[in-house]
Amino acid sequence: MVILKTAGAIKKMREAGRLSALALKVGGEAVVPGVTTAEIDRVIHDFIVSQGATPSFLNLYGFPASACISVNDELIHGIPGNRVIKEGDIVSIDVGACLDGYHGDNAATFVAGNASEEALALLDVTKQSLYKGIEMATVGHRVGDISNAVQTYCEERGYSVVREFVGHGIGRSVHEDPEVPNFGAAGHGPRLVSGMCIAIEPMINAGTRFVSTDSNGWTVRTKDGKLSAHFEHTIAITEDGPIILTDPD
Ligand code: MG
Repeated sequence: MVILKTAGAIKKMREAGRLSALALKVGGEAVVPGVTTAEIDRVIHDFIVSQGATPSFLNLYGFPASACISVNDELIHGIPGNRVIKEGDIVSIDVGACLDGYHGDNAATFVAGNASEEALALLDVTKQSLYKGIEMATVGHRVGDISNAVQTYCEERGYSVVREFVGHGIGRSVHEDPEVPNFGAAGHGPRLVSGMCIAIEPMINAGTRFVSTDSNGWTVRTKDGKLSAHFEHTIAITEDGPIILTDPD
């Protein structure tokens, strides 16, 4: 069931989203060669708590940290630990904050030092595809219009779209209906109406679309070992068009 948000609820989600965006920014600034993923998570955790908010992912389904930190061929759900980030690594950070009962959720892939041209191109296409999806998030469109915009943009450029994980509605819960896939047919799926809040989150691979989950039950990585990138915003659909709630400003 899709839970529509009032203007008042969207205002609260904007605050939660702003904190989520700032937490992501703080995390991204901590991505430098020599740092461990646990140290990045600590910086993020401490920032969120310092703002009087709660890390949305901490203990969500049993996840043991405040941020998912996924490196190179890992695309999502990487568990922060003693892995040391190396020059040229790409580091996906997915983080949300809960404030006043509402959640924000956002992600971005950062580079440690200087990354390869191949990596930078993947990041650019993934990020742009998120904005292609957001452009379609208008009243009267359907979820499939977002999905198709993301998929088409990435596949036309030779990248592949992960099928097993998708975006989602968001509000008082991190994950609400509807599912927002990054692939699918335009004109299909639930109709977009004013008051819907959704997280759009392309997970895009440089090689094949196939992924596997590690034996820890969390870390998802590409089957071919090639790079993967992840960008995400929480947005509200309004009569005036989509509003990015995970905006740091
Ligand atoms: Mg999400």
